[in-house]
Amino acid sequence: MNNSPLGNRELIRAINRSTILNSIKTNGAIPRAEIARLTGLSPATVTGITAELIQDNLVFEKESGDSSGGRRPIMLAINPNGGCVVGIKVMEDHALGALTDLEASLLGKQSYPLTDTSPEGISRSLSELVAELLKMSENPAPNLMGVGVGLAGIVEAGQGLVRQSPFFGWNDVPLREMIQNRVNVPVYVDNDVNTLAFAEKWFGAGRGVDNFLVVTVGRGIGLGIVSNGQFNHGVRGGAGEIGHTVIQPGGELCACGKRGCLEMYASEPALLRQAAKAFEQGQLSSLPKTPEELIALAASGEKAAQEIFARAGELLGQSIANLVNIFNPQRVLINGEGVRAGNWLFDPMRAAIDEHTMPGLRQDVSILVEPLGDDAWARGAASLVLHELFESPIKRQREAEAA
Ligand SMILES: [Zn+2]
Repeated sequence: MNNSPLGNRELIRAINRSTILNSIKTNGAIPRAEIARLTGLSPATVTGITAELIQDNLVFEKESGDSSGGRRPIMLAINPNGGCVVGIKVMEDHALGALTDLEASLLGKQSYPLTDTSPEGISRSLSELVAELLKMSENPAPNLMGVGVGLAGIVEAGQGLVRQSPFFGWNDVPLREMIQNRVNVPVYVDNDVNTLAFAEKWFGAGRGVDNFLVVTVGRGIGLGIVSNGQFNHGVRGGAGEIGHTVIQPGGELCACGKRGCLEMYASEPALLRQAAKAFEQGQLSSLPKTPEELIALAASGEKAAQEIFARAGELLGQSIANLVNIFNPQRVLINGEGVRAGNWLFDPMRAAIDEHTMPGLRQDVSILVEPLGDDAWARGAASLVLHELFESPIKRQREAEAA
């Protein structure tokens, strides 16, 4: 829910504005009468709000190409250059920012070091990054519509509250408010896997798909859930912690304080720990210090390295099969830096998915390993803002209730 303190009339106007923007965006170009028909709003309301959108430069009028007799209707279309948006992916020691237009097309990107990782330090660095990105706009007075931020951890997106950040050791940091006070535009904060799921939904393999999952592998193992077209955050942002589901009761102690979590067996740091053990036991010819070095050992034919990936792939596949059995998704999109392991990981993963998914559900789902780059995570964060702009959460809730 939107927490801005709008009065009822303003709220209705905001909902109508999002509804109209959304119908224009969805239809490409559309006459006013058609907007009124599709949205059920009165022609007077449509005329009033579209006048405001044209004045704000978000929408422009163009003549229809259709000349089949009579007057050509005036069409309305989204002006992609009417505003810009910044999206930021926050990592452990740097942030990657993207400046996009209103269609999430990349206008510029920049990496920014994060040295002071206190909440104050991070919000200052991110607001400096926003200023750097705005300098990349060709528009001397860019109309910044908002800033979206994705970071690892448990994030209560509605409040913009970072409940837990594994990188920075934060608890209950009101990051949205802290950045908003510096940049003076709306700020949206979400878990980074969710921003990647936004990227998939807006311009990736989740486009037009109402039920899909995004699984990220790398330093941790993450999950984004889109179910019936809605992002599932759970009660307070904790949904999707697949990395901390138990696969080995009483197993290795995890950073979360529990034992036997998937992340302790199938994340990249876990694979390097297993490799170190194999090296000590004389099963590997050298000690790999990076995931790339472990991949190189597997590629050069070292059995122990191949087996480390095979076991991780199997565990990952079992976990994904469990997800498929729970959610019955149309697609599972595998992403994150861990995909660099390629088929050493994914052949065993696919075999385990085939083995453990219920037969009736396996045929419904396609498993796609199509990694989006870091750009996409940042563009996904930008689409948090576009999502708010074009699809009012209240409207979406109303649709969900009607359905
Ligand atoms: Zn854990």
